[in-house]
Formats: sequence, structure tokens, C-alpha cells
Amino acid sequence: MVQRPIYTARLLQSETLSERAQCKHLEFVVEELERFEFTAGQFVSMLAKKEEKQMTRAYSIASGPKGNNRFDLCLNRVENGFFSNYLCDLEQDQTVQLHGPHGHFVLRQPLRDCLFIATGTGVAPMRGFVEWLFAGDQLRHEGREIYLIYGTRTEAELYYADYFKAMAEQHPNFHYQPTLSRPQESWTGRKGYVQDRVQEILEARAGHGKDEMDAYICGLNLMVSANRKLLGETFGWDKKQIVFERYD
Ligand SMILES: Cc1cc2nc3c(=O)[nH]c(=O)nc-3n(C[C@H](O)[C@H](O)[C@H](O)COP(=O)(O)OP(=O)(O)OC[C@H]3O[C@@H](n4cnc5c(N)ncnc54)[C@H](O)[C@@H]3O)c2cc1C
Repeated sequence: MVQRPIYTARLLQSETLSERAQCKHLEFVVEELERFEFTAGQFVSMLAKKEEKQMTRAYSIASGPKGNNRFDLCLNRVENGFFSNYLCDLEQDQTVQLHGPHGHFVLRQPLRDCLFIATGTGVAPMRGFVEWLFAGDQLRHEGREIYLIYGTRTEAELYYADYFKAMAEQHPNFHYQPTLSRPQESWTGRKGYVQDRVQEILEARAGHGKDEMDAYICGLNLMVSANRKLLGETFGWDKKQIVFERYD
């Protein structure tokens, strides 16, 4: 069996993204490497011992490649869960082992117009995509229309909202479209589920060929399945146009 290299990552800093949702943004450095090479959208497998048992959990990288040995994660505590709480309790300068990067949830080439569809921490790889596409003055997005359709229950669970809003202001071809299923009365944005918004966007683009776009979907299986069904059965998309990552 081929041995996978195991790296040690040190926590540089952590930030609470939502008290209510118990969600954190964590920034790590892999000091034994000059560059930690990955493609936006991939995940790492984190390793830790629970009593004597080796535990492994996957976490999407929540940043674009930075050209150095750093990467970010975005994760929330899961009640009675082991690894999510282990990572959320990690303190600055503590270390954790990992292997990777892994996975095929990456942008397809040639790049076409994109729907990025996410709920909850499923936004992690989407942040990686956006950072990669819109980094600096490099035109990696090639002027394609990029829609981030991001669903949560309440506004407090919309992670990285300021970042996405700023990117949308700077780039007219990046459309940030949060939608809340249980908004407070003060919310003036979109309400409902991500699939409602996907449907509206595709209906408004009816003049475009259905094969001019790809969808990238990330989150819990129920949401991923609902959107795959909508795109495939209602809009007749080919399976190859739909790339997805399920967290459960
Ligand atoms: C490819 C991939 C990428 C992932 N990326 C991320 C990421 O970027 N951020 C992130 O937060 N998670 C991500 N996950 C989920 C993550 O791997 C863990 O499953 C999650 O953190 C729970 O692990 P745990 O050890 O805390 O809970 P466990 O001890 O495994 O589970 C405890 C209980 O919680 C339930 N449970 C497990 N996961 C969830 C969940 N997500 N929501 C609600 N209940 C759950 C289980 O069914 C179980 O009953 C990813 C999963 C995959 C497969």
C-alpha cells in the first residue's frame, strides 16, 4: 500500500464566524513544507486520537491556494461530535495532523458561467473558488458570470458575508445571492431555499443554452440531492455539468 504523507499543521489564528451557529474560521500553516499545494475546492483529512482510536474527518479548504504553506478551514461544532469540537477547541499554536489534499470538487476547465450552490459550512470550498477566481488582478474568472447562491436559516449563519459582498461590489460578474429559510422580520433579502433561487436564475437566463453553465453544489445530502434533481429533471442538464460534494 502506498503510504500517504502525513503533515503537521499549526493553528495560526481562529475567528468565531457565528456564536449562534458555533462556527469558526481557522487558519493553519504547514511549516515542514514551503508550499502546501492544493486546488481550490479540495479537502484535507484531519487526524486525531480519541482515546486510543485514530479518528479521521474531511474538511474542505476554505481558502484559495495562497502560493505558500497556509490554508483555512470553516467548520461548526456538531452536538456530541468528536472532531468538529476538537478543532473548534484548538488554541493558537496547537497542532493537528492531516493528509491531503484530496477530492475532485474543483473547477472544471474550460471555465463556463457557474452556479455555486451551498448551505451552512458548504460555503467553505466556495470561498476557496471565489478567492482563486478573483484574486488580485489576474483574470482567472475570464469574465464568466459567477452566482453564489448561499442558503442558511438566519442571517447570523451567513459566513463571510462581508467578504462576498465586497467581492460582488468589485466584480460585476460575481453575484452574491444569500437566501434565508427562517429570516428575522428585519431581513430584506431573499427568502426560501437555495433551489428556489436556482430556479429563478435559470428561468431568467432562458435565452442562454442550458449547456453554457456548470453547477457546483456543496452541503448536506438532502440539499445536494434536491438541486441535482432540479437541474437534471426540470432543466435537463447533463450529469457532467453538475459537480457536488456531500458532507454527510
Ligand atoms: C468531503 C467532506 C468535506 C467536509 N467539509 C466540511 C467543512 O468544511 N466544514 C464542516 O463543518 N464539516 C465538513 N465536513 C463534515 C465533517 O467531516 C464531519 O462529518 C463533521 O465535522 C462532524 O464530525 P464530528 O467528528 O464532530 O461528528 P461525529 O462524531 O462524526 O458525529 C456525531 C453525530 O453528529 C452527526 N453529524 C455528523 N456530521 C454532521 C453535520 N455536518 N451536521 C449535523 N450533524 C452531523 C452524526 O450523524 C452523528 O450522529 C465534510 C465532510 C466531507 C465528507
